[in-house]
Amino acid sequence: MPFFGDIPKPARVIDSSMGWAHTVRCMARDTHRSAVYSVEDALGRQLDRGGTVEFFGSTLTLPIERRFADVASMQRFVDSVLSVIDPYLPPVTVRERVSASKAHYERPRTDRLAAIAVPLQLIDGRRWAARESVLLHEIAHHVTHHDDCARGEAAHGPTFCAHLISLHARVIGPESALLLRASFDSAGIPVAGVVAS
Ligand SMILES: [Zn+2]
Repeated sequence: MPFFGDIPKPARVIDSSMGWAHTVRCMARDTHRSAVYSVEDALGRQLDRGGTVEFFGSTLTLPIERRFADVASMQRFVDSVLSVIDPYLPPVTVRERVSASKAHYERPRTDRLAAIAVPLQLIDGRRWAARESVLLHEIAHHVTHHDDCARGEAAHGPTFCAHLISLHARVIGPESALLLRASFDSAGIPVAGVVAS
């Protein structure tokens, strides 16, 4: 897909809400979860309208993120992203989450593939969760789940945040990734270091 760039992979070194919910494995306490949600909430509002953003004296132009109408289109999106970032990653099933306002990630089990569950009901006339940034958050959980560097880390730990930034860079655009990284930094949210692959 033409919008995916060649972005370095997150490494091990640590340098530094939208109302998401998800299943987590045994790990450290998730102390930065609400801060991560707040950052994504703010970025999500900007991606909702797109346009220019002032950033330390420079002007960045953000795209408007894509929205999806149904499970099939979200599944195609998730499959495309996974095939580009790592074709050896196990697949993820996208399904509708009924009677809920939050998307979540379900890690794989011996009898079931990993899943991303997304509510499709309308809120203020829009499918709130069926959009690019929400799916990237859940894909980041999937990538992190299969990353040994994240072992023992919190669900929204440094490796998760690094994968999320990388996904924004490759899928939405470098401007979105830059804002996300800067916002994590100013909020004191640790992010795993990035090195060239
Ligand atoms: Zn999450």
